[in-house]
Amino acid sequence: MVDLHDDPFSVALRGVAMDAHTRCAHYHGPRDIIAIKFPCCGVYYPCHACHDALANHPAAVWPVDRFDEPAILCGACRRTLSTRQYLACEHRCPYCSAAFNAGCMRHRALYFATD
Ligand SMILES: [Zn+2]
Ligand SMILES: [Zn+2]
Ligand SMILES: [Zn+2]
Repeated sequence: MVDLHDDPFSVALRGVAMDAHTRCAHYHGPRDIIAIKFPCCGVYYPCHACHDALANHPAAVWPVDRFDEPAILCGACRRTLSTRQYLACEHRCPYCSAAFNAGCMRHRALYFATD
């Protein structure tokens, strides 16, 4: 287990076997370069399984009325996106154009309220 609290990222970020672009032990393809902030603890994790492994509490999902808060970290440029920006970004970082894994959208219900 690697805890990179003191790495160059400017936000609280933890993950299992996480690399410099926020890939983790569970999702480590070339496009798996985002981390998601969990509203229960305010910490960014590469995925829900990392939160399960490292946090001592159940994960909460973002309610719709907080979709304008920073919630996604781009592991390529390390800027943050709001949930609204992320859901509208067509799987590409609006800042650096890095491609995100479109498959993440299949699990969006683990992170974001759906209505
Ligand atoms: Zn949490
Ligand atoms: Zn993970
Ligand atoms: Zn980016």
